Amino acid sequence: MSNNGIWVVAEPYKGALEGVSYELLGKAVALGAQLNAPVSVVLLGQNVKSLAGELGNYGADKVYVADDAQLGGTEVAGEVLGKLVGEQHPAVVLFPATSFGRDLASAVAAANKLGVAADASDLKVEGGALKVVRPIFGGNALVTLSGQGAQTLLVTVAPKAFERAQAGAGKTAEVVDVPVSGVSPRTQIRQFVEEVASGKIALNEAEIIVAGGRGVGSAEKFSIIEDLARALGAAVGASRAVTDAGWRPANEQIGQTGVTVKPKLYIAAGISGAVQHWVGMKESGYIIAINTDPEAPIMKVADLAIVGDLFKVIPELIKEINTLKGAAV
Ligand code: FAD
Repeated sequence: MSNNGIWVVAEPYKGALEGVSYELLGKAVALGAQLNAPVSVVLLGQNVKSLAGELGNYGADKVYVADDAQLGGTEVAGEVLGKLVGEQHPAVVLFPATSFGRDLASAVAAANKLGVAADASDLKVEGGALKVVRPIFGGNALVTLSGQGAQTLLVTVAPKAFERAQAGAGKTAEVVDVPVSGVSPRTQIRQFVEEVASGKIALNEAEIIVAGGRGVGSAEKFSIIEDLARALGAAVGASRAVTDAGWRPANEQIGQTGVTVKPKLYIAAGISGAVQHWVGMKESGYIIAINTDPEAPIMKVADLAIVGDLFKVIPELIKEINTLKGAAV
């Protein structure tokens, strides 16, 4: 293991770090202890330096900080990180498998002629060496990868794959300022446009998710999914059939090419349960499927399979939930 050890690319958002940053750090700290390797966090963004201070307490030995107005997007950030990785040769760099992390991982890979182990489900130490486990064939098999020689291993990891690092390590991480100079962006960010729906619960943080599939029938009829989500205080998700049809925004797509989620309760209504959807939600604590077809794949793997028309079942569920809520007041 190179002296520059294990790196974690943190994802800043609105003056804080996304939860996945702490999940990657938790794994990195555990691996660092096994491999006797230092753990560094890379913080790239605008107004992010103040976030560096707490990371020692979560187990980081070092924090590389590039804080610059040009780092609002991923183009310059990718260039800066690509250069840093080329100079410092960490053994492994963990990126969140989000649009931010995936963008950066591919930029670093291109800059350094490296490959990326995408969407890892685990990292482990075997025989003193770091191994990356990732699903293949739509999650039907797992492959274990190891790095080639001294090459830096780039790995993206989906949110919720690992437990968060806990505060209390009591360390003070060394903060290293990374210069942002000599970069030549081809794009210029003029304005950030953010889709903000009031009261909307983020999918990757939600404890309950109600997801709708093609069986819902149209964008308008999706209000039934929203109604159930509201009754449960849940986030709304969708299958790719739904986002491809434009019934819901792409960022609500759950699955292999969408978001990976791990709520305590997942309700899939009108979703067949294709393997590409399943891999994105199979770690949910309890899965309820509502489908008219008892033979749909999701009905075989759900904890509770309700055979029925979602337009009949969901209103009954909402009624029951509201009765229970009323009784609890
Ligand atoms: P369908 O498969 O059409 O299922 C609709 C279901 O609704 C059926 O089971 C039907 O019985 C039921 N139904 C119909 N009417 C009702 C009703 N009134 N009440 C109750 N049930 C009803 N898919 C994803 O979801 N996420 C991904 O990330 C993803 N990535 C992909 C990547 C690749 C490379 C490929 C090739 C595919 C990917 N897909 C993904 C697509 C995936 O293969 C399926 O096509 C998709 O998940 C199907 O969506 P669905 O279950 O909503 O639709």
